[in-house]
Amino acid sequence: MPAVNSVLVVGGGLAGAATAIHLAQAGVAVDLVEIKPDVAALGSGITLQGNALRELRTLGVWDQVQAAGYAFDVTGIRAPDPHGTVVAEIPDAKTGGPDLPAAMGMPRPELARILVDRATEVGAKVRFGTTHTALGQDADGVDVTFSDGSTGRYDVVVGADGVRSWTRRALGVDLETRSVGMGIWRAFGPRPASVTRTDLYYGGPSYIAGYCPTGEDSLYAYIVEDAQDRSALTPEEQLATMKELSRAYHGPWDEIRETLTDPSRVNYTWFETHVLDEPWNRGRVVLIGDAAHTCPPTIAQGGAMALEDAVVLAELLVERPALDQDLWDAFTARRHRRAKTVVDASNQLAQWQLDHVQGDIPSMMRSIAQLTSQPA
Ligand SMILES: Cc1cc2nc3c(=O)[nH]c(=O)nc-3n(C[C@H](O)[C@H](O)[C@H](O)COP(=O)(O)OP(=O)(O)OC[C@H]3O[C@@H](n4cnc5c(N)ncnc54)[C@H](O)[C@@H]3O)c2cc1C
Repeated sequence: MPAVNSVLVVGGGLAGAATAIHLAQAGVAVDLVEIKPDVAALGSGITLQGNALRELRTLGVWDQVQAAGYAFDVTGIRAPDPHGTVVAEIPDAKTGGPDLPAAMGMPRPELARILVDRATEVGAKVRFGTTHTALGQDADGVDVTFSDGSTGRYDVVVGADGVRSWTRRALGVDLETRSVGMGIWRAFGPRPASVTRTDLYYGGPSYIAGYCPTGEDSLYAYIVEDAQDRSALTPEEQLATMKELSRAYHGPWDEIRETLTDPSRVNYTWFETHVLDEPWNRGRVVLIGDAAHTCPPTIAQGGAMALEDAVVLAELLVERPALDQDLWDAFTARRHRRAKTVVDASNQLAQWQLDHVQGDIPSMMRSIAQLTSQPA
């Protein structure tokens, strides 16, 4: 008998959708509410490392992910010179195991659609454009009021509602999310034939310029600069700013720049970070994914950590006979240190660049690869 019969998952991102799939597959009654109106509203492109792919395989969606994404096993390092000279080609660690690619680019809306479809297929009830407006718990359950006026009672509520988690606020959990000091321009567009893997250009007028293929026909490109207030720019000005910054970068960037024509596919956001101290639950409500820990995407591990939180939480909720503090302690014991190690490493990489310091990146990447190669 699982420790729970009914679970509300708040948020349909990686953490929420994966939790819903694992629990519904195990026979738990799952409701998932996502505040956005549909899956197409769920972002641009994402790089999934091997350990994220391993989790996607356990969710039963590997075939669809493989068909929709673009796999690669090497990351290129290029110079910010007039030719975009390749200065290194670094084999990526296969953290998901030898039978999975080291990394894969995916359009985020496509990944979201695959996961939400799978959640529905295995029996989770998914509602878009909905959130909770009140949570109240007693010793036996959590009473929830939804924004459409409906109500429900659940054994557990999972707050997987991202970095600004509404559920975290509803619990009164005080967590400072701080800016790392960098901002990132991202654009989604067509993939030129010359782009077959992620290439990173360090230095030049920006900290990093890079791109990642996300499918046969698509990629996302990005440029990381000092965090600044870009909110007054119109979409057209945002596009022009990103194009202007990209002019220092060549090789495939020369082709990518020409295809950056759609202002609606450009976005700007700051790198932010936080890690919630243990425990991650308050009574029967638990926070996972970015709601509990978030980091700059300098090693592209945030998505993997969110998927790992989901599998560990679901495993404990399904396999433990009772929902008690032992269960919650076991959850954070397995997740807190691992997620914090990843967040700290991601922040350190950003800080080295902000300080213009040549840190020991290879050794850090080796130790993160060792950690993430181990099952969650
Ligand atoms: C610029 C940038 C680039 C990144 N690139 C990568 C990358 O390449 N690879 C990688 O692994 N990670 C990357 N990350 C990190 C990654 O995006 C996150 O770690 C991951 O998405 C976390 O998943 P999540 O499900 O916890 O949160 P989210 O993906 O944020 O999902 C939360 C969901 O909850 C919904 N929601 C919010 N509030 C409510 C509410 N009140 N009610 C209901 N639903 C709600 C949101 O709409 C959203 O769908 C990047 C992050 C940033 C900022």
